Amino acid sequence: MIDPDPPAGRRSELAAALADVERRILDACRATGRSREELTLIAVTKTYPAADLRLLAELGVRDVGENRDQEAAAKAAECADLPLTWHFIGQVQTNKARSIVAYADLIHGVDRSRLVAALSREAVRVGREVGCLVQVALDDRPERGGARPADVPALAAALAEAPGLRLRGVMAVAPLGSDPDVAFARLFEVAQAVQKEHPGADVISAGMSGDLAQAIAKGATHLRVGTALLGRRTPFVR
Ligand SMILES: *Cc1c(COP(=O)(O)O)cnc(C)c1O
Repeated sequence: MIDPDPPAGRRSELAAALADVERRILDACRATGRSREELTLIAVTKTYPAADLRLLAELGVRDVGENRDQEAAAKAAECADLPLTWHFIGQVQTNKARSIVAYADLIHGVDRSRLVAALSREAVRVGREVGCLVQVALDDRPERGGARPADVPALAAALAEAPGLRLRGVMAVAPLGSDPDVAFARLFEVAQAVQKEHPGADVISAGMSGDLAQAIAKGATHLRVGTALLGRRTPFVR
């Protein structure tokens, strides 16, 4: 028996998954009168090897998302030759700010003012301008990451004024067990309020493998898709 060539097999697997996700995105766009160009698909590559990022880049993917600094930093270094935009989508620990601003183009999880200060200091130190999104806790439970909707305006203002950082918009995860239509409608309202004060901060990062159509219907601009593209993740064993 001859083993199938694993890289070739993986390449066609990823190509098929990408085509399927693109079809879902186009269907949702058609259903809601939006255009594909308004949307950025972020391939969430956490737990998957740099070889997969390379294949995805060959298939035309330009945006990748990671949620753990150590893993992301290693992959960013390994993939430095690829034309990729790096999204940090996890909770940001203040003591990781220095590492994250070195490779991240857009940080999705800004949820407290102490973090704004730390990121700003480190971005200025390395001379980069790093995009930031205010993460919103749509269930008003900030202990699981994200700022309460009521705290978003102050955080947005802090980001807009922070040297080295650029306020780009908002991000949220639909709370577990919630109706994504309701959750993303609330996020859209929060996003509108931010844009009123900060025109140009027009990113709405919402929608994952299971709820991307609902997110598109409620104005998402950035989709963070892992499982549907790369497969079911096996938990990290370290
Ligand atoms: C892992 C992750 C995703 C991707 O989720 P899937 O259901 O695998 O598509 C999106 N957003 C965040 C914040 C994540 O941590």
